[in-house]
Amino acid sequence: MALEMTAVSASPQASPIARPVKTLWGVGPERAAQLARLEIFTIEDLLLHRPRRYEDRRHFRPIAQLVLDEPAVARGNIVALGVKWFRKHTRSIFEIILDDGTARLHCRWWNLPFMEKYFAMGDEVVAFGKLVSLKPRTVDHPETEVVETGEENFIHLNRITPIYPLTEGLPQRWLRSLIWRTLNQFEARVPEPWPELTRPASSIEGRAAPLHAPRSTLNTSLPTRAQAIHLLHLPESLDEVDLARRRLALDEFIELQRGILLRRKSFETKARALPCRGNNRLLKPFLARLGFKLTEAQTKVLRELRKDLSGPLPMRRLLQGDVGSGKTVVAGCCALMALESGYNVALMSPTEILAEQHFRNFTQWFEPLGVRVELQTGSRKTSAKRAGDRRSEVRDPASGLRASVTLFIGTHALITAGFDLLNLGLVIIDEQHKFGVAQREQLVRKGRYPHLLVMTATPIPRTLGLTVYGELDASSIEQLPPGRGHIKTFVRTADKLPKVWAFVRDQLAKGRQAYVVYPRVEEAGQNGVKAVTLEFDNLKSLLAPFSVGLLHGRLKSKEKDQAIAAFRANRLQVLLATSMIEVGVDVPNATVMLIENAEQFGLAQLHQLRGRIGRGPHDAYCILVAAAKSKEAQQRLRVLEETTDGFRIAEADLKLRGPGELLGQQQSGAPKLRFGDLTADWELIQQARRLAAQLVDPA
Ligand code: ADP
Ligand code: MG
Repeated sequence: MALEMTAVSASPQASPIARPVKTLWGVGPERAAQLARLEIFTIEDLLLHRPRRYEDRRHFRPIAQLVLDEPAVARGNIVALGVKWFRKHTRSIFEIILDDGTARLHCRWWNLPFMEKYFAMGDEVVAFGKLVSLKPRTVDHPETEVVETGEENFIHLNRITPIYPLTEGLPQRWLRSLIWRTLNQFEARVPEPWPELTRPASSIEGRAAPLHAPRSTLNTSLPTRAQAIHLLHLPESLDEVDLARRRLALDEFIELQRGILLRRKSFETKARALPCRGNNRLLKPFLARLGFKLTEAQTKVLRELRKDLSGPLPMRRLLQGDVGSGKTVVAGCCALMALESGYNVALMSPTEILAEQHFRNFTQWFEPLGVRVELQTGSRKTSAKRAGDRRSEVRDPASGLRASVTLFIGTHALITAGFDLLNLGLVIIDEQHKFGVAQREQLVRKGRYPHLLVMTATPIPRTLGLTVYGELDASSIEQLPPGRGHIKTFVRTADKLPKVWAFVRDQLAKGRQAYVVYPRVEEAGQNGVKAVTLEFDNLKSLLAPFSVGLLHGRLKSKEKDQAIAAFRANRLQVLLATSMIEVGVDVPNATVMLIENAEQFGLAQLHQLRGRIGRGPHDAYCILVAAAKSKEAQQRLRVLEETTDGFRIAEADLKLRGPGELLGQQQSGAPKLRFGDLTADWELIQQARRLAAQLVDPA
């Protein structure tokens, strides 16, 4: 899944806007280098340089009417200016005072004395900022532009003026003039990128002609691409800016969806599925011994999966289900179908701990069935049965010969060279959000198009579903198994910690166990962000006589195993850990999840952590302790108090922190979009999907 965006243009070579910016009048090597830092290389890039915001310079607010804390644009002449030094010439304030006839405005810059050289007495200045005080009226670090006398003022004044992102040395006015000139020269030569989807623009007052698609049900009207680019830089209203943005975003999404659909199409013509339907030989006894009945939701999903496994195309499916919804057993059933069919299966998880949890689990489940289970992580290679042991013998349905089949479990070590996954029928990836797209693809390429099942407990907001995961079909388990205790979630500030600890002790006294999570391993962070190793001794004495164990990523594998085993056996009542326990630890007697510095984590991640508790019959408590100061963070955390609906949480996280957070740190899957907004453009994405389908498969 290469999701790099390429510039949208019908035939880039032929188009004059594909020429480098340095071919423009007034752009020498120095300016070209500055533009390159803004990722502007071609004329088209320049035309697509998106204003950061707009200033309505048709109506300036009189300085006397500026309101505290409200961003506004004012205009006035400099009546005084100068630098004040203090603290032995180490600190400074540069100030200009503007007068517009109604009042005076003090504009201040801290520790930027060189600002002085940009202004002179009497200059007319446009200033954008918000008042921090009324007496005198003061703005700190406003964005300013000196009005120069000259013909070009109609570009900069008396209109809705675009304010562009800049880079060092590049003046706003220069860039605005350049874009204005370039627009005049090239606007008419911006091609429609999807001529198949458009008809000649029927110019409605020169603006907003419909993007007409003959065979689609498209009924919205958007400007042509050329008009959109015009409106982006020369809007007459902010509504026009929005129209322009939506048209340009649509182009980005069409390009993205076209790539996804083309890749999917080529996959469908090349790839042939291995028959992995199975024959129930292993599945039946497995389900009989399981000790619980699959929920309706699990059964429904399993039916979808079996259909894929017996279909003509290799399965490419994303399985979503909230933490604790029972994805593992569904994956287990799928694995058995492939194993019954005579193929090996690989299960890949993001951490060693989770891999080992799966290994333990699957060994228990599969060993009695005679299936071989092998663990391969960075630090270990173990097999549930020694070589020479009785292996699971399965008749290869094609040859009728007996074959022994294996479930391989591992971390990304599974994809390192040398591990040859021959005869792989199914690849299962657990907790997809921790993997990069590239890693996923790498594993799949090891075999001859094995079936692929990707599992995630972070529900994928639908916008990401269609873009980042656009090549996968989706299933979700929308129901938790019965008999779960209730999880109550509380947000508290750090000053309430004594009460919180008393509550934790109370739970421990009732025989329950607790997780305590801090963000860091060794060094405490700024503002008292706690590290587990530093707090370990503290916590031990605080919670004595209960015993406390320590778990974090820098421990040796063996130490990690020991800590988890001791906690599982209730030899440790408390596990002090980093967020690494977010996946894979399953201890039903643990009913408390206490997370300090909770403001340091994403909501989806906290939701995962919370999913570690409430796995048994007892009521469970998730306590999120936030720094007392940060009101905003507390507000954000309240989402978790209000809902356990993973979808709502993921949507909230996407809005608050952007897609990178949800997709994981090293995740490269998020497309780079200039105009599209993955948090908000659901309708455009759907529309783009339909239009792209017409491009890829013209009916
Ligand atoms: P997740 O979807 O987060 O991976 P798991 O697969 O770890 O969830 O399941 C959580 C727990 O629920 C496990 O202990 C599992 O054995 C149990 N479980 C799964 N399905 C059911 C069911 N249908 N009835 C009862 N318990 C179940
Ligand atoms: Mg799981």
